[in-house]
Amino acid sequence: MALIVQKFGGTSVADTKRIRNVATRVLKTHAKGNDVVVILSAMAGVTDRLIGLAGEVTETPDRRELDVLLATGEQTTAALLAMMLKSMGHKAQSLLGHQAEVVTDCEYGNARILEIGTNRIKRLLAEQNIVVVAGFQGTDIQGNITTLGRGGSDTSAVAIAAALKADVCEIYTDVDGIYTADPNICPRARKIKEISYDEMLNMASLGAKVLQIRSVGFAKKYNIPVHVRSSFSEEEGTMVVQEDSVMEQLVVSGVTHDLNQARITLKKVPDQPGIAAKIFSPIAEAGILVDMIIQNTRAAGQTDLTFTVPKADYKRAMEMQQRLAETIGTEEVFGDPHIAKVSVIGVGMKNHSGVASLMFNALARENINIIMISTSEIRISCIIEEKYTELAVRVLHTAFGLDRED
Ligand code: ASP
Ligand code: MG
Repeated sequence: MALIVQKFGGTSVADTKRIRNVATRVLKTHAKGNDVVVILSAMAGVTDRLIGLAGEVTETPDRRELDVLLATGEQTTAALLAMMLKSMGHKAQSLLGHQAEVVTDCEYGNARILEIGTNRIKRLLAEQNIVVVAGFQGTDIQGNITTLGRGGSDTSAVAIAAALKADVCEIYTDVDGIYTADPNICPRARKIKEISYDEMLNMASLGAKVLQIRSVGFAKKYNIPVHVRSSFSEEEGTMVVQEDSVMEQLVVSGVTHDLNQARITLKKVPDQPGIAAKIFSPIAEAGILVDMIIQNTRAAGQTDLTFTVPKADYKRAMEMQQRLAETIGTEEVFGDPHIAKVSVIGVGMKNHSGVASLMFNALARENINIIMISTSEIRISCIIEEKYTELAVRVLHTAFGLDRED
């Protein structure tokens, strides 16, 4: 007998027929003698619709009231599932964020969980209940309703699993696991059986939008195994676990691509202390997240500096640098939004040399030019021209032996 937390995403609870499917799943796990805590998202599209409604009232909705509104999406599905379980003759109870004692800070719309009291959930479990918790929400210490940021019910699930010391947190979604690459552009991608928390953190931040990244941080910190799987099939999905419990130690576990970056280059910047601070402080103040930075040394006390920003912030960042160019003494500012970042990720890299050269050779064979390179302990990323994205992902997938056999 185990304590299992099961989280179902928006598409899994999109209508009452699907909620019935969820009830069946939950009961199956319960029937095996497990304690089950269910965390739910709002029905697919509901959170967006609620945001739209707020937008009809005012362009700048009060953030506290917006959270009161958004939390109703999860309140609806939690009530419906508990109702359904009871109507099927089982003991169940729904809990809203505050009833499940999910305490957060007071950052409306993007609150962080501070602590979770488990007494009520534990008591309900001891009384043989299936406990259904509304995800994505909590309350601050003053009792105001808060929400955890888009996709936040993943974090609710993992945090509750951690607080309860659950054996596993199962995330039921509309994909059947984490893949070695995006199957839409890489037909030979295959499902990964096991992946470490750190690899998953890198995959998520690079565009594998399966889990809210904050939830993986939680899972790692409290060592909660996370099972990402489909709510529409019985098949096993992907286990996200501690590094040393990953059985299959590959050099590279996955290839990701990110089309969301743009490049800005500053030509002939004075090579003096304080210049980088002058360039990047205004960008940081504007809330723009810089991803890669490369600086070259030229002769005569000048350097070239290239960095990437999200595509959505490209125009703003360009204008900022053009305005700054004169005060700083930059000779020229130019950029390119048509780039892509392709990365290979794997904890196995730590013990292998030659990973970078294998990557560069694979790209070179296809005549793909590398514009920028960055590396970390378990990742190598290259910026290339956007039009080569698919080709690059496929050749890297093959080069690192990830192709599905058939
Ligand atoms: N309903 C929220 C959203 O759409 C939270 C979630 O689904 O995880 O972002
Ligand atoms: Mg989600």
